[in-house]
Amino acid sequence: MKKKSAFSTVMGYAGGFRILTYLSVILSALTGVVALLPFVYIWRMIKEVLEVSPDYGRAVNVVHNGWMAVIFSLVYMLLYFTALMCSHTSAFRVATNMKKALLEKIADLPIGFADEMGSGKVRRIITETTGSTETLLAHNLPDMAQAVITPIAMIVMLFIFDWRFGLACLIPVITAFLMMFRMAGPKMQEDMKKYQDALERMSNEAVEYVRGVPVVKTFGQTVFSFHRFKKAIDDYGNFCLSYTDSTRTSMTLFTVFINSAFAFLIGLVLLLTGGSDAGMDILVNFLFYVIFTPVIVTTMNRVLFMSENNMKLEDAVERVNSILDIEPLKKGSEDMKPRDASVEIKNVTFSYSADSKPALKNVSLKADNDEVIALVGPSGGGKTTAAGLIARFFDPQAGSVRIGGVDVRDISKKDLMNTVSYVFQDSRLLKRSIAENLRLAKEDATDSELMAALHAAQCDDIIGRLPDGINTVLGSGGTYLSGGEQQRIAIARAMLKKAPIVILDEATAFADPENEVLVQKAFTELTKHSTVIMIAHRLTTIRNADRIYVLDSGEVREQGTHEELLKRKGLYHDMWNEYQSAISWKVTA
Ligand code: ADP
Ligand code: MG
Repeated sequence: MKKKSAFSTVMGYAGGFRILTYLSVILSALTGVVALLPFVYIWRMIKEVLEVSPDYGRAVNVVHNGWMAVIFSLVYMLLYFTALMCSHTSAFRVATNMKKALLEKIADLPIGFADEMGSGKVRRIITETTGSTETLLAHNLPDMAQAVITPIAMIVMLFIFDWRFGLACLIPVITAFLMMFRMAGPKMQEDMKKYQDALERMSNEAVEYVRGVPVVKTFGQTVFSFHRFKKAIDDYGNFCLSYTDSTRTSMTLFTVFINSAFAFLIGLVLLLTGGSDAGMDILVNFLFYVIFTPVIVTTMNRVLFMSENNMKLEDAVERVNSILDIEPLKKGSEDMKPRDASVEIKNVTFSYSADSKPALKNVSLKADNDEVIALVGPSGGGKTTAAGLIARFFDPQAGSVRIGGVDVRDISKKDLMNTVSYVFQDSRLLKRSIAENLRLAKEDATDSELMAALHAAQCDDIIGRLPDGINTVLGSGGTYLSGGEQQRIAIARAMLKKAPIVILDEATAFADPENEVLVQKAFTELTKHSTVIMIAHRLTTIRNADRIYVLDSGEVREQGTHEELLKRKGLYHDMWNEYQSAISWKVTA
């Protein structure tokens, strides 16, 4: 199958608006011809004046020609303006639809995709790459149409007036074209890709750098400790330098030649007249070409960027497709409804990437309807991973995850979202108002519903303290919440959803005991009528769980109730003792 051209791919996003793009190209091509007409009329004026000189009274057509020049300038502007209006309308549509397609796609991708690809890169593709197609379609495409038509019209005119001067003008034009071909070609395509890659890497590393600033400060490091960031900048710099260097001669010759049409014309006049007085004919034609040469410069410059713009478009489409082509999670169906709120992970093996060791190895665990199960174990044991599989952030490579007897891969996204509530280890609140954050769980929740959820999640003290109550924007004007406070808001959010299955990834113990008590209470409220999968760091919170699973190195090492596990004197027993002594150490210290 023939690959769709970048242009037709992009036009696909314009939908019915593509007609405007075509219209703008046609109008713009017309302007390519109209642009030349004022020059013709100006030349006629000069010609007439010269011919009647010194009896200027006889120059009767001057005013008429002058008006024609003005009118064609206006027609040109009007056409160009209309062309741009059309191209912009369509281009904005394309950029919007591309962004929509990307964002919709991202919603269907495994949640880990942004981490894998680099969030800086993803951001750049969504904002800048789609933005660049907008500039290309809105400005460059109509300009391209002009850039094709003007030289043709130009060459025709050059020869109509006086072929000798026409030839003289063609010399710089042809040389400029040759230089352009030297700069373009497959190598340039490759360089353009390298250039965009370098930009992308720099963007990625910059995001990482900003994220890492707290670490840098804490450990008294400098920017140079971010080797990868520095390397990305250096690479970019080196690439730009060497690229500029490689095109230096061609670019210089290009610029010199297109700006030197005068020199060729003057040379020709001297040649034709042999240095003596020029005849009127030659002089008048000479003048026409002198008036005309600025058009050559503008046109050739546009042609120069034409091939570059086309490459940019291809590159943009490729980058957008790099996201659109990622295999999405299989879509479930509306008909497969979970029977109840039970959860079962069966013989699941999962790796984050093909070349990393599995984060879970043949793991099986289950929670019946309304049961509370706990996942414990050393850091990196696989607890968060197992919980993420239940919410289908990823799909396992082997084994199955079932909710209410139905494989999560068969449940529709909407049903799954309504069934499972996930309170993250880091509470992931957005820099929006508290109300907006809560409404992520339930779009149409009323204010009183919000207040009820906040109350149940023990957030009354937080709301009372904030200047605008639930409309206070987080992270603005000095409104920052402590870790425990954030988690309580996150619990209120989960509460609003009233999901039958709740997954809690407990944040590691908070410093202040008061907060801990409140978070605990909020948890209890949230989990009252749900099946609960709880990842706990404070073992006291899970003593009453129906079953406890000890995960270590991606495997279930032990399972049972608190009492059963203590009796076994295994891993859990050791953890428990360690935990007890840590607590008593805290108390006595
Ligand atoms: P726990 O929650 O028990 O501390 P995790 O489930 O977070 O453990 O991690 C289990 C394993 O998977 C660890 O080896 C960890 O390095 C790896 N891992 C966790 N998250 C990712 C990720 N996004 N990409 C790659 N590997 C990951
Ligand atoms: Mg974890």
